[in-house]
Amino acid sequence: MPALGSAENPLRVAIVGSGPAGFYSAEHLMKREDLSVNVDMFDRLPTPFGLVRAGVAPDHPKIKSVIRMYEKTAARDGFQFFGNVEVGRDVHADELDARYHAVIYAYGTATDRQLGIPGEDLPGSHAATTFVNWYNAHPDFADYDFDLSHRRAVVVGNGNVAADVARMVALPRAELETTDTADHAIEALASSGVEEIVVLGRRGPAQAAFTNPEVRELGELTEADIVIDPAEMELDDASRAYLESDDCDPTSRRNVEIFTEFSSREPEGKRKRVVLRFCASPVEIKGDGKVESIVIGRNELYEDGAGAIRARDTGEREELECGLVLRSIGYKGIGLDGVPFDSGRGLIPNEAGRVTELESGEHLPGHYAVGWIKRGPSGVIGTNKKDALDTVNSIFADLEAGTMPELREPSANPETPGREAPDGADTVSVTIEELLAKRGADHITYLGWQAIDAAEVTAGEPHGRPRIKFCRIDEMVEASRAAEAV
Ligand code: NAP
Repeated sequence: MPALGSAENPLRVAIVGSGPAGFYSAEHLMKREDLSVNVDMFDRLPTPFGLVRAGVAPDHPKIKSVIRMYEKTAARDGFQFFGNVEVGRDVHADELDARYHAVIYAYGTATDRQLGIPGEDLPGSHAATTFVNWYNAHPDFADYDFDLSHRRAVVVGNGNVAADVARMVALPRAELETTDTADHAIEALASSGVEEIVVLGRRGPAQAAFTNPEVRELGELTEADIVIDPAEMELDDASRAYLESDDCDPTSRRNVEIFTEFSSREPEGKRKRVVLRFCASPVEIKGDGKVESIVIGRNELYEDGAGAIRARDTGEREELECGLVLRSIGYKGIGLDGVPFDSGRGLIPNEAGRVTELESGEHLPGHYAVGWIKRGPSGVIGTNKKDALDTVNSIFADLEAGTMPELREPSANPETPGREAPDGADTVSVTIEELLAKRGADHITYLGWQAIDAAEVTAGEPHGRPRIKFCRIDEMVEASRAAEAV
């Protein structure tokens, strides 16, 4: 048999998830001129790009320009997109194993972390991830309803997602209408009664996870004053020592400088205010059938002996009336049937991207992970480029070492494209396209996505907007048909 990775016997790779980690992996795999690699990329949505489409805030269009790079990858020979295909529903992980030498899991972290406090599930208390998906027109969230009628909203967490949601609640209609925010969200946000957005950090200003540009932006909102009580900026000894030390992260130091400047500002009397509070943890969300108030516990900071500065409850309490709570304390991954999963950490166990069995720690040949489902929800989009390179280098090393699972026949033969089918599964003589057709999965090709993209952009043009996003799967599938009509 010709060598694996040769033109006669290309390396067949399935990538599950089409966000940045998936696309960077595809690019690293396909740009090698000495190897022939075919990539089939699966996404449960008809649209690619993961959090670049459904996570990045609509008022941050420049961040989305990375899509130009992903488009170049998608244009490479040997790349195929299978949108609207959910691995675990339309095709089982085992069935991918049977058809590809390597499967890379790049499906991110779909759910949110929980606070674990009473009242967390009251109507009006939402995971920030839900709110983000809703304003970004994710089809699963189009019918969500957020009660924005109360004058105060509370955002829990001091990360960039918290900054995004606080800013989105503060943006005026005129600014929302220049973005690709979902139409339903523009209407709700622009007519909202929220006047004050309180952002709670459980630790101090020196420990906030925001990056500097995101903090700065909170002080540049056209219709919202930024407010920090100067008393909040009185640092504890451990934080002060950290900020003065050589170990101090420059981002934290700069954040504290920006917060200090904010705390010296006189409010300009804008229509809204964003209030940053530190050492403040929610301990209970109260209300009769819906959120009416939040009980905040005052924390003090201490050095834990291992170099970390942690928060502990002082017992002091304060109750704030509010109608909306957005819990922004991080994302969490969920498991996929047939793939090892570490539920405690919310990720796929792996070593340098090679998936390992949870109990034995042994590598599962041909299985890899990348992005947030590999390392947890941290870093910016670009972080995934290096992360993807590490995983792809593991694939190249396994290819060279000859440990990549063999397919039964040269994969170029469409009749026999996979290795041994698992018990009870469809036989490998069925191609992935045939298998999906048998399951009734209406898969969207990259051409189909380009038709959706063109329709969205065209709809936005008369309104001076980058695009008007479809919010429903059936609308997307319908728009994708324009590609078939050509
Ligand atoms: P994150 O950066 O990890 O921030 C999570 C925040 O939640 C931290 O402030 C954390 O505080 C707090 N938290 C965790 N558990 C808590 C609890 N039980 N009670 C109160 N607070 C709690 O997560 P994220 O904001 O979801 O962002 C995820 C990643 O995406 C980050 O790497 C972020 O930079 C990135 N992102 C980037 C952008 C951008 O570049 N513009 C936009 C959005 C997201 P502690 O520090 O005390 O744990």
